[in-house]
Amino acid sequence: MSATLRITEIFYSLQGEARTVGRPTVFIRLTGCPLRCQYCDTAYAFSGGITWKLDDILTEVKKHSTRYVTVTGGEPLAQPNCLPLLSQLCDAGYEVSLETSGAMDVARVDPRVVKVLDLKTPGSLEVARNLESNITLLTPQDQVKFVICDQADYQWAKAKVAEFDLDRKVSDVLFSPSNQKLEARDLAEWILADHLDVRLQVQLHKYLWDNQPGH
Ligand code: SF4
Repeated sequence: MSATLRITEIFYSLQGEARTVGRPTVFIRLTGCPLRCQYCDTAYAFSGGITWKLDDILTEVKKHSTRYVTVTGGEPLAQPNCLPLLSQLCDAGYEVSLETSGAMDVARVDPRVVKVLDLKTPGSLEVARNLESNITLLTPQDQVKFVICDQADYQWAKAKVAEFDLDRKVSDVLFSPSNQKLEARDLAEWILADHLDVRLQVQLHKYLWDNQPGH
């Protein structure tokens, strides 16, 4: 029997975050997440979804003329068959990124995949789920993302960047203001005041499409 995954949606849009922001990308959103971050904007992916064969996912992705594919969730690594999907996408020639909560072991992720790894701040209410062993598995092509809810989260994130030398270890350290909790301008001013070598990111898809599913 061929391998399957539970999928909430597959859609073509502009990348809203990270280093390829603004680039046309196919998104594969896997169903399910073991975390419950208080700011989660994809709770619709916690359950439901449709079972897809991996071959059919590849066929669906091919319908869109794209170089970039992002596998996201939910928490994609909560489904073991995410790993062969990532490798098959790489084999097919796509530039593949994986958005992961940081709570699941990334050791077996195909090394060709760009990992966009969250470190959950105290404000997420899921800080205890961070699997710090993942940090040693990051490579220079990877990215680390902090969603920052307030000044305390900012100080926590800044300390983690220094503790793990993240701004030298990965290609981008991303500081994102939590939607409706922190003004992007406040975060920008803190970053400048502290001369941090991190990238402020605002979520492009929220500006363009107000975070509706399918975008
Ligand atoms: Fe939502 Fe992501 Fe947190 Fe899961 S890890 S609850 S999908 S923000």
